Amino acid sequence: MGKALIIGAGGVAGVVIHKCCQNSEIFTEICIASRTKSKCDKFQAELAGKTATQITTAQVDANDVKQLIALIEQEKPDIVINVALPYQDLTIMDACLATKTDYVDTANYEPEDTAKFEYKWQWAYRERFEKAGITALLGSGFDPGVTGVFCAYAMKHYFDEIHDIDILDCNGGNNGHPFATNFNPEINIREVSAKGSYIENGQWVETEPMEIKRVYDFEGVGEKDMYLLHHEELESLALNIKGIKRIRFFMTFGQSYLTHLKCLENVGMTSIKPILYEGKEIVPLQFLKAVLPDPASLGSCTVGKTNIGCICQGVKDGKPVNYYIYNICDHQKCYKEVGSQAVSYTTGVPAMIGAMMVMTGKWKKPGVYNVEEFDPDPFMEALNKWGLPWKENFDPVLVD
Ligand code: NDP
Repeated sequence: MGKALIIGAGGVAGVVIHKCCQNSEIFTEICIASRTKSKCDKFQAELAGKTATQITTAQVDANDVKQLIALIEQEKPDIVINVALPYQDLTIMDACLATKTDYVDTANYEPEDTAKFEYKWQWAYRERFEKAGITALLGSGFDPGVTGVFCAYAMKHYFDEIHDIDILDCNGGNNGHPFATNFNPEINIREVSAKGSYIENGQWVETEPMEIKRVYDFEGVGEKDMYLLHHEELESLALNIKGIKRIRFFMTFGQSYLTHLKCLENVGMTSIKPILYEGKEIVPLQFLKAVLPDPASLGSCTVGKTNIGCICQGVKDGKPVNYYIYNICDHQKCYKEVGSQAVSYTTGVPAMIGAMMVMTGKWKKPGVYNVEEFDPDPFMEALNKWGLPWKENFDPVLVD
């Protein structure tokens, strides 16, 4: 069918690479390009002889639009899958525009010097993508990503209006480290140490970090503390799902993780303001990232399960409906299949599926779109086929 250029060679990229290689009828060729080429070469060597997909590798600084354009012109991919960092979203979109290439990512743009992620920067590309006749699919990971597809599926099949959405993200995994993050530590800590927020009656309500706590009993994991966070899909779902009054996002954290985080915050290690250290400017959070375990290395030591899904409340034919849709994913099963833990797996599989949706024309439409703006059915079918089967519950325990 065609060729994908995968940018990034970290935890999530590893899963995207394996999944594209399993799906070699669609991904006949891939090029893996990242800042550190040796990481790309490692994936290429790992998969040599095990896939029909042709693999090439390249070095690229994805902050540099010129380098990206040169690479795209040389490789001529049908689509670019951006699994580098959110800081590179706009430069990669610029290069896609210049070369008229479709684009997929898993996290929305965030400027490096302000820990504030919003869709406004990427939504501003809509007209230019329309005019160029190319598709940008934003946020095709799990959350954002599958959570948006779950809501679109709920809307299409079970509701006339959805009034209330609670997205619940539970990681019941244990990696044996006193403190480690399951995806890029810098991005993760920026997200969880920020103020929380949710939407109620069309208005954003802001909370202190970790101010709102609930306890929920997750299938496959058990009872966990979960905390309200700001999360990017709240912004797009509130616009794209009909009837929304309230939408919230909760993520589980253990007490030990929170105590470590508080301590690191208190001593200034999570700050993104540069400081002078021995005459050199360093960013404390980037230094912290350098001493924490690499998320891509956590696969072998992480045990337990993740359970991520959405509880929707609304009406159908004038009657109230409650609906919970979720996926349970086992860390060790993921490791055996692709050498990664479940957080990378649950992000990488939907990134591959999103790219497949665009490449096969099912989700191809010039412009910039969030996942919930397309027909959810083919994506939902692909989730079952490619390793993230989902479950439904029409009588869920609700979150107060
Ligand atoms: P990693 O840190 O493991 O990997 C990031 C990769 O990007 C690294 O290989 C890194 O290169 C590369 N990179 C960074 N800067 C550049 C650059 N300037 N040019 C080229 N390559 C660069 O992160 P993860 O794999 O954990 O996360 C990847 C993305 O997935 C992030 O955007 C994250 O926010 C998103 N994500 C989304 C989720 C969802 O559900 N939607 C969940 C989890 C993550 P190097 O190896 O040299 O450092």
